[in-house]
Amino acid sequence: MAEIELKHVCKTYENGFEAVKDFNLKIADKEFIIFVGPSGCGKSTTLRMIAGLEDISGGELYIDGVKMNDVSASDRDIAMVFQNYALYPHMSVRKNIAYSLKIRGEKKDVIEQKVQEAAEILGLKEVLDRKPGQLSGGQKQRVAMGRAIVRNPKVFLMDEPLSNLDAKLRGQMRVEIASLHHRLESTFIYVTHDQTEAMTLGTRIVVMKDGVVQQVDTPQNLFRYP
Ligand code: ADP
Ligand code: ADP
Repeated sequence: MAEIELKHVCKTYENGFEAVKDFNLKIADKEFIIFVGPSGCGKSTTLRMIAGLEDISGGELYIDGVKMNDVSASDRDIAMVFQNYALYPHMSVRKNIAYSLKIRGEKKDVIEQKVQEAAEILGLKEVLDRKPGQLSGGQKQRVAMGRAIVRNPKVFLMDEPLSNLDAKLRGQMRVEIASLHHRLESTFIYVTHDQTEAMTLGTRIVVMKDGVVQQVDTPQNLFRYP
């Protein structure tokens, strides 16, 4: 389980730019939170601060009541899926998925079992021995998700994971992400520009602009016709 709380969280980059200002949000266990807003409004920065990939300049981040500001990314039990997938090009699909378990010193047979489970869930069994360069966009996206789910993270962060896919595949992957959310015990935070994704996946939507949270509400309330 994972309850996340951001209290007055700010980010000022080294050049003095204030990318996130006084971000306050309490996220319940197993929620599926969506971040929307124009390009440059601070969505990725917020995600990266939660992941520990970016220092928090002010305020506090709590996960299950524990202050995380100074906890390193590798100690956070958080997995992140990026828009560009960030796969290791020289490794097979199997090794890409196994990598995070391997560096944590998991036993070989445990790793193989988890890789098989992930491949089964994500429809990757046929391509486990291929390299990323030999995969379609949708398959690369699935490998990126496979790498995250084998760790069974408390928190699953996704930064526009479907934006490089065509409309048909996007629809299909959206359904798969919804089913992953039901299957896993993780709390999800998901950045998107796509209104359909926001409406169908989100338990709540956070609307940002110029580093400030404008509105937080359910999809039903946000997209309700007047
Ligand atoms: P979004 O994900 O909403 O598109 P980002 O969080 O990536 O927005 O960026 C928010 C703002 O912070 C943008 O104006 C961006 O140019 C700026 N920014 C991002 N990274 C840095 C950095 N390392 N140094 C300075 N400014 C940055
Ligand atoms: P996004 O797709 O989230 O909008 P960007 O293309 O804005 O991402 O940023 C890509 C990378 O460049 C990020 O790692 C971000 O930190 C960095 N970056 C963005 N804007 C700046 C900036 N003004 N100065 C330095 N680094 C930046």
